[in-house]
Amino acid sequence: MKKPLIAGNWKMFKTIREAVNLVQTIKAGIYKITDCQIVICPPFTALAGLSPILADSPLELGAQNMHPENEGAYTGEISPLMIKEVGCRYVILGHSERRQYFKEDDIFINEKVKTALRYSLIPILCVGETLDQRNARQQHEAVKLQFEQSLKDLTKEDILKTVIAYEPVWAIGTGKTATPEQAEQMQSYIRRLLKEKYGDEIAGKVLILYGGSVKPDNIGELIKKPNIDGALVGGASLKAESFIQIVMNATKALEAEAAR
Ligand code: PEP
Repeated sequence: MKKPLIAGNWKMFKTIREAVNLVQTIKAGIYKITDCQIVICPPFTALAGLSPILADSPLELGAQNMHPENEGAYTGEISPLMIKEVGCRYVILGHSERRQYFKEDDIFINEKVKTALRYSLIPILCVGETLDQRNARQQHEAVKLQFEQSLKDLTKEDILKTVIAYEPVWAIGTGKTATPEQAEQMQSYIRRLLKEKYGDEIAGKVLILYGGSVKPDNIGELIKKPNIDGALVGGASLKAESFIQIVMNATKALEAEAAR
């Protein structure tokens, strides 16, 4: 069975001191958890300080973005080498806020995904439709295009080292979660795209997360769905109690499912 993955995307929140406090509380709250992969993605400035604190815990470190080159004259950017050096194993790529506010397109995101894999970083690739696309019933086309272009040229070995996060843009930071049925419907579609490209066995092994207003009270129903392998959590990962509760509720729901 796949181990679920819960990742916290802190966005542009938390100073170094705040980040250390938050991680210490989360670490104390989840030290017994062994059946869930837990990833924290703080701002770049907090990565180096958090790395030693996470070393003796089940928590792993991720960055929220990176540039596709390993060095160069790219003022204000961070390279894969730099995030690796401070202990990151994961990197979020193609988040809708990067697409929307920083005009990142699928071709650029694809370069980043390929570079991440070259540096043995696990990309958490975000895809998801806007509200206008859903209202126009174009959500499948939108996600398919992002899937095809952002994951272009990835081999079977590459896709096994990649995590996909379905994040409908209309559900991010809005308090409006996709229903478990809506999320499952799109995530089974993503699984189908994976099967068509890589075959059933490989497609079955790829983790597909759901993201969009995940909270302690909705994670249980979401994670029980067969194609929801975990969650990418924004707002609710900024408070230790809610993030810990999300992890606990996810593992409890999966245990209950397994016992049925
Ligand atoms: C996100 O930023 O990836 C996200 C899912 O945010 P939120 O949980 O706040 O909707």
